[in-house]
Amino acid sequence: MTAPSVDMHCHLDLYPDPQAQVAAIARRRVYVLSVTTTPRAWRGTVALAAGHSRIKTALGLHPQLAKERKVELGLFDKLLPDARYIGEVGLDGSAEFRSFWSDQVEVFDHILMSCAKAGGRILTLHSRAAATHVLDALERHQGYGVAVLHWFTGTQRELKRAVEMGCWFSVGGAMLRSRNGRTLAAEMPPERVLTETDGPFAIVSGNPLQPGECAGAIRELAQLWQLGEAETQNKIVGSLRELTTIGSNCLIT
Ligand code: MN
Repeated sequence: MTAPSVDMHCHLDLYPDPQAQVAAIARRRVYVLSVTTTPRAWRGTVALAAGHSRIKTALGLHPQLAKERKVELGLFDKLLPDARYIGEVGLDGSAEFRSFWSDQVEVFDHILMSCAKAGGRILTLHSRAAATHVLDALERHQGYGVAVLHWFTGTQRELKRAVEMGCWFSVGGAMLRSRNGRTLAAEMPPERVLTETDGPFAIVSGNPLQPGECAGAIRELAQLWQLGEAETQNKIVGSLRELTTIGSNCLIT
């Protein structure tokens, strides 16, 4: 039997019918990290996964919502003891969101500080057009836990720095369809690479990726690592185990 697929970054609550997606995940043997974009979405999204041990829910505050949702940082701190995974959090330096850059930095610094104070967490990070700033922030907050850079689009130099800092990566079918994405993935240490969909936002062949729909990513990684697809899938499940072990070691609670 092939190993379950690993979807390390998926917006389960933003699909048109999240309940149906949960049922499909249960049928398909998929490990899913269900990320949220605001602390207020946390309880409902956790409830969605009740009884499904392969779905973990991450507490997030998306950088693109930093200005309007920074008022929820108090709620974030209140929920943090119950959350083992954090995300989606990070910074977005693209033109559309730069107008409230200082809000983004305030929110991200607060979250990293809270994670460090709480003994560390596993974080799934957004770093579009802001990789250097995200890495700088991580350096400011030692003890935050383990960083998983999702859909990384930085430069080779930024990637090298992230690798040296011990960051992990999650890559998806959409990312690996671009030449630049494949070039970056080739430079990532294979033992620190996981798969993701970023569904329903990631579109492949005109359709949003479904939770756990990582076959395309597995195919590309198998080629890159010169392994069979089943072997690649196994390797990723092993890496996920390793990540959760490291993650639990950094937790005091
Ligand atoms: Mn996302």
